[in-house]
Amino acid sequence: MAVRTIVTTVVCGTAVALTAPPAAPPGGPYVSPLARVDVVAEFDPPARPWQPGHRGVDLAANPGDVVRAPAEGVVTFAGRVVDRGVVTIDHGDIRTTYEPVDPAVTTGDTLTAGATIGRIGEGAHCSQRCLHWGALLDSDYIDPLALLVRYAPVLKPPFEP
Ligand SMILES: [Zn+2]
Repeated sequence: MAVRTIVTTVVCGTAVALTAPPAAPPGGPYVSPLARVDVVAEFDPPARPWQPGHRGVDLAANPGDVVRAPAEGVVTFAGRVVDRGVVTIDHGDIRTTYEPVDPAVTTGDTLTAGATIGRIGEGAHCSQRCLHWGALLDSDYIDPLALLVRYAPVLKPPFEP
């Protein structure tokens, strides 16, 4: 009887996991933080929180490119972390993070969607060539691209001009 109960529990647990809908982004659709969405490194979350992975997406950028708030929110951090500038925005249930960004905002600023938060700077794995965009739903990392209203990947030409 004890074995049967355990099996039932496992089966039910699996069924719940398979039928649970994917986490929908609360707070409505977002816009891209950069003028164009050109993904150079996709979201690759670790299987376990302590394992290595890529907790966001990298969007191609150039030094000095303007970075914008993808939705309204409040700046909860704007400053240096080790070797780079970082901006974090609280949108309610979702928090988004941007690096390396030379901040044009300060902690506590209230932002509208599309407001400039800073410019692409140097440091970390994206130094001057991309924007690392992270998103947290509560304490879970989610794919920031899932927040966008419309996302069509930029297809690169087979040959450089
Ligand atoms: Zn990255």
